[in-house]
Amino acid sequence: MWEFAVNSLDPRAPLVLDTRELGRRPGSQRELELSVPAPAELGIEVLSVPEGSPVELDLRLEAVMEGVLLTGTATAGLAGECVRCLEPIEDEVHVTLQELYVYPDQHDRAAEHDDRDLDDETSRLEDDLLDLEPLLRDAVVLALPFQPLCMDDCPGLCTECGARLADDPDHSHDAPIDPRWAGLQQLQADTKQDPHD
Ligand SMILES: [Zn+2]
Ligand SMILES: [Zn+2]
Repeated sequence: MWEFAVNSLDPRAPLVLDTRELGRRPGSQRELELSVPAPAELGIEVLSVPEGSPVELDLRLEAVMEGVLLTGTATAGLAGECVRCLEPIEDEVHVTLQELYVYPDQHDRAAEHDDRDLDDETSRLEDDLLDLEPLLRDAVVLALPFQPLCMDDCPGLCTECGARLADDPDHSHDAPIDPRWAGLQQLQADTKQDPHD
């Protein structure tokens, strides 16, 4: 079938694992501890694993009837910025991984027992190699906060002067807060900023 023609896995890629040693014998297993350099853009735009920084993997590969079951964990450092105050954030992400990589010749048989579109959903072995990268990417993205904050209750930036409010919680400006005067106040502020206008 055509999937054999699109074999693109590079056995030397850090996130491509060789399962040949399991010999396709159900029950045989192998434990792996490795540290691999993070691929580019692992995470989300505002918080991600810096490219090339170590991703610590603690994995178990187990041969089952249909393929190879991968379970384990991945741990990596994170860098990003707070979406409210733009302060740099350093953190760590720890995810659990679990995926069944199906032998190519098991596709048709598996499809008969499953309503999903297996050609799209199923992870496959290619020449007894498995690609950990898509699984790792999905797991990391799911584990990250949608809107990372430097602290849970980050007050953000002052809307008037842009100061980081967490550094100066008692921060205030003399101006009246009454919304009826806000327009006038803005006018005054503009005039002060640019006296030539
Ligand atoms: Zn913040
Ligand atoms: Zn301010």
